[in-house]
Formats: sequence, structure tokens, C-alpha cells
Amino acid sequence: MKNIMFIAPPAAGKGTQAELVVEKYHIPHISTGDILREIAKEDSEIGTYIAETLASGRLVKDEITYKLIERRLKEKDCKNGFIIDGFPRSLDQAIEYDKILKKLGYEVGNVISIVVDEKTLEKRITGRRVCENCKAIYNINDPKSAPTVESVCDVCGGKLFQRNDDNLEAFQTRYQMYKEKTEPIIDHYKEQHVLTEIDGNDTVENVFKKIDQIISTSK
Ligand code: AMP
Repeated sequence: MKNIMFIAPPAAGKGTQAELVVEKYHIPHISTGDILREIAKEDSEIGTYIAETLASGRLVKDEITYKLIERRLKEKDCKNGFIIDGFPRSLDQAIEYDKILKKLGYEVGNVISIVVDEKTLEKRITGRRVCENCKAIYNINDPKSAPTVESVCDVCGGKLFQRNDDNLEAFQTRYQMYKEKTEPIIDHYKEQHVLTEIDGNDTVENVFKKIDQIISTSK
């Protein structure tokens, strides 16, 4: 099993697709956003710093993300492959990630860039709801991805919440950050011949089919 990395703008469907990959391939899903949201709940200096940064849509300091990622990748469950989402998010982070992988004896694997246009992202961002328990993702603006009962998770019955950076103002900052800082890493991975671009302006099922094909043909 090769490792998998997603590169995509906010609300492009990375989290939803990662869940489907986990279900089929039983590898851990490492999302820096999820890890940071957990730390943001802590009543500490770092918790407050992360909560404020997340709410603004800006990026958290590199040194913090490097420590979190290295610590997580050292865990045993990553030995047979993992899916990383939300990291790296800048060229500096990609260069550091290459070093971390080398140190741990891992390969970058398949890098998948999910391309979605800005208008679609804006529509998705305001409708996104996440289960506070199992992290399943819904969209109340799309009948196909809406929960059966409002605010209740279909999977585990947990309560659904709206991320406090899922508003149009924070979206503009996050999207701008993506264009400026994250997009340049696409070329970095193209140069390593590990990147595949896919069209994410499609249904969840069709996008997953394309991802699944990349994973299953590259073993
Ligand atoms: P996400 O869940 O991937 O949309 O990430 C939510 C927020 O977490 C981002 O807008 C950033 O504030 C922060 N974040 C996630 N990953 C990183 C990263 N690799 N570097 C810096 N900040 C990050």
C-alpha cells in the first residue's frame, strides 16, 4: 500500500474522500486540521493560539505542525500506509515533509490534487456540517449529502456542528492562502513524478472512483 496525500482547496472534499479511502483500505487518516481542532479545545496558551488562528483562516506556525506530523507518523499504525490531508500546505512544509519521510524511511506515495472551482467551494463551505463524535461530513445544501435528521449524524447519532472557519469571510482568507502558499507544492510533486490531478467538481462517488483507480493501479 502506497501512502496517499491530498492537495486541495478548502471544502474540495478532502475529508469526505479520505473517509472513503479509510473505509476501503483501512489505513489511518491524518488530518492536521482535525489534530489542530482538538488542541484548540485545550485551555492553554497553545490551545488559545491555535483556536484564534483557525478561526481567522490563517496558517498555524510551521514548527507546531512539524512536531505534530512527525509524532503522528511515528505511530505504529502508519507502517502499512496512511493518508495525509492538510499537510504540507506550503513549499517550506513540503521540503520539511520530504525530510521527515526520509528520516522515518517512508515514501511520499501518491499525491492527488483535487481541483474544484471557487464558486462551488463557496457553496459547499456554508453548508458543511461535521459530526463532533466520528467526524463524518455532511452538506445541508446538497440533498445527496444532507443528514437524514437535521443536526444528527447518520453514522453514529452524534451531534453535528459547523466549523467556525466555515464562513465566507474565513473562506476568502483560506482560499487565498491556498492559492498563494499551497498551490506551488503541486509543481514540487510534479517534478517528483508522483502527482495526479483529478476534477473534484463531480459527485462524491465519481470523485472516489477516480481516487480509487489511482490507488489500486499503483500498488
Ligand atoms: P483544514 O481542516 O485542512 O481545512 O484546516 C483547517 C485550518 O487548520 C487551516 O485553515 C489552518 O488554520 C490550520 N492548518 C491545517 N493544516 C495546517 C498546516 N499544514 N499548516 C498550517 N496550518 C494548518
